[in-house]
Amino acid sequence: MRTVVDSKTAGMKGTRKLFVKSFGCQMNVYDSQRMADTLAPEGYAETTTAEDADLIILNTCHIREKAAEKVYSELGRMRRLKEDAAADGRRVLIGVAGCVAQAEGNEIIRRAPAVDLVVGSQNYHRLSDLIVRAERDGHAVDTEFPVDDKFDHLAPPARAAIRSRGVTAFVTVQEGCDKFCTFCVVPFTRGAEISRPADKIVAEVERLADAGVREVTLIGQNVNAYHGEGPDGCVWPLAKLLRRVAEVPAVERLRYTTSHPLDMTDDLIAAHRELPALMPQLHLPVQSGSDRILATMNRRHTRADYLDVISRLMKTRPDMALTSDFIVGFPGETEEDFAATLRLVDEVGYSGAFSFKYSPRPGTRGAEMADQLDDAIKSERLQRLQQVIDDNQAAFNRRCVGRTFDVLFERPGRHPGQVVGRTPYLQPVQVEAPVSLIGQIASVTITEVASNSLFGSLAREPALAGAGA
Ligand code: SF4
Repeated sequence: MRTVVDSKTAGMKGTRKLFVKSFGCQMNVYDSQRMADTLAPEGYAETTTAEDADLIILNTCHIREKAAEKVYSELGRMRRLKEDAAADGRRVLIGVAGCVAQAEGNEIIRRAPAVDLVVGSQNYHRLSDLIVRAERDGHAVDTEFPVDDKFDHLAPPARAAIRSRGVTAFVTVQEGCDKFCTFCVVPFTRGAEISRPADKIVAEVERLADAGVREVTLIGQNVNAYHGEGPDGCVWPLAKLLRRVAEVPAVERLRYTTSHPLDMTDDLIAAHRELPALMPQLHLPVQSGSDRILATMNRRHTRADYLDVISRLMKTRPDMALTSDFIVGFPGETEEDFAATLRLVDEVGYSGAFSFKYSPRPGTRGAEMADQLDDAIKSERLQRLQQVIDDNQAAFNRRCVGRTFDVLFERPGRHPGQVVGRTPYLQPVQVEAPVSLIGQIASVTITEVASNSLFGSLAREPALAGAGA
């Protein structure tokens, strides 16, 4: 049954429900959580269903094909919910946040008048003001790149909110990008690279660890370009930040994503040998295996540069596993270029990868290029690439059978008596184990592989060191 809140009381603190739907990458998941944290002191409690929400926010992504169209279609559904609520005497606000909001701005309100507020990815610390303005004026839009740092204005997550989100957490350390790959909108939607000060990141990690988080992933659009101010007043690179974060008690596992091959410095590679908490898994997008296409993509590295980074990583940490991103059908890609990509997948032997058909993004150089490929060619190549990626992933998973890994247990499994955890390589493992293991790391022997899931059994008593609160 729908919860009906009297419209007169809907403005009072403690009476509103917030539904945030996140699209796209981990950066958006993190941003959505921070929006909820920021609105919690204003009396908004999170709900998992749009139907009973008083404020609905779509936190959008502009990376994938037809992203804006998908948002408009979702907004059609939200408009109907808003109309139903109005018929029940309940006022619902609809907001659009994230990269589509940043790119489209006022156009969203013009095309979807049911939307009350539009907030860019650098402005969500001003959400409560925007809500007041939207309620007063009918709508509010804020997509400027502000001079103030949003992180300084965001409310920290409450302990209960952290605990409800599980034992793993993302922490944004860097945003934006200066690389300008010719297919990518990030430099336009997220702006120039900015890095958060190291002490603020450490304080956030300490708060997470204190509430029971055991695995932290430092995230940024170009995370290994991190260059934040350290407490000593010097600029800290990512390696130094990782060394400091690894000192936080109770954080058993550390990861970082997404990295650019050019920014894999010797110091950062060395951190993989020095820090036991730094997991032996790295997402290192390459996009194409062809030097010609890498050049037109403005990736600023060659295939050989990329393989050299991997070779140095493997010498430092021989148990390292790599994942990547690929774009097929970039303008001018020949069958020969594509074959070079297929060969690269086999040469690296990825444990997994994301692959997409190229789709032109307005405002990027790639969209203006001649030699755009037919969709049928892109689809056919994507299918072949995904087959090679799947084969590599299956081979990697098969090699895990019979081996024993430390597994961090995250949540109950699909069936009673099962608990799901992740190996150091981020593979989900289903294990017959008590739910009391959630939040702990235990040794698990992998017994079976089925599609992308592993099955295992407890090898011995769980490690108890560093248990969360
Ligand atoms: S490095 Fe990554 S975020 Fe930056 S422009 Fe290239 S693809 Fe986009």
